Amino acid sequence: MIGCSCAVCTSSDLRNRRRRSSLYVVAANQHIVVDTPPDFRDQVLSFGVERVDAVFLTHPHADHIYGFDDVRRFSTMQQEHIPVYGDPRTIKQMRKKFDYVDRPSYGFESVPRVQFTDLVEPVSLGDVRITPLPVSHGMDKINGFLFEGDGQRLAYIPDCNGIPDETFQCLENLDAMILDGLRPEPHPTHFSTRECVDYLHKIGARQSFITHLTHSSDHHDLQQQLGHGVTVPWDGMEVKL
Ligand SMILES: [Zn+2]
Ligand SMILES: [Zn+2]
Ligand SMILES: [Zn+2]
Repeated sequence: MIGCSCAVCTSSDLRNRRRRSSLYVVAANQHIVVDTPPDFRDQVLSFGVERVDAVFLTHPHADHIYGFDDVRRFSTMQQEHIPVYGDPRTIKQMRKKFDYVDRPSYGFESVPRVQFTDLVEPVSLGDVRITPLPVSHGMDKINGFLFEGDGQRLAYIPDCNGIPDETFQCLENLDAMILDGLRPEPHPTHFSTRECVDYLHKIGARQSFITHLTHSSDHHDLQQQLGHGVTVPWDGMEVKL
């Protein structure tokens, strides 16, 4: 937290130094990024991401999209347009906030070359199937995503304070579930730690993770508190399913 000198912000435990929430999924030869936060460039450099076949966006909040320009390095390296999926409201916002992307006057290397695509139903990229998972995020309806590939099922819902029945039904038989659990105190647009953990237990994935944490949670203390059932991830954590 900018300007904060609390125990977590000044901790020497690197797991307490948190960039904004995002996910990189590699399955069946597809390399998929979920959200491009303001520190997207630092994330991909720090953790050695060298290929992006598609970008999925959960919603157009600043902490999830404002690193988008650096997708251009991937379209340049790969010499192709990269598909970018989001619900229609998100794609509309992206076209507005990154309006230079569609202008033909720029050279191939100077802007992200992407194909903005409205995502309203499941889509398949090679042998990976991606299903949008509508959830409540305060007053907004936004998406999490279900990934199915290599015989595994992973769901990622980073911003959420309510899961409708239709979405909950998609969360059966998961190998991994990653869910918003912002902080111990209640919040109007995010699940608290308790709400998140209750949902993770109800969902019952083979592996459960809490995410979108703030400086209210010390990594070591929170992991001690949650025990074995729920993992507190850290930046750059890799999980093989
Ligand atoms: Zn702090
Ligand atoms: Zn948000
Ligand atoms: Zn967020």
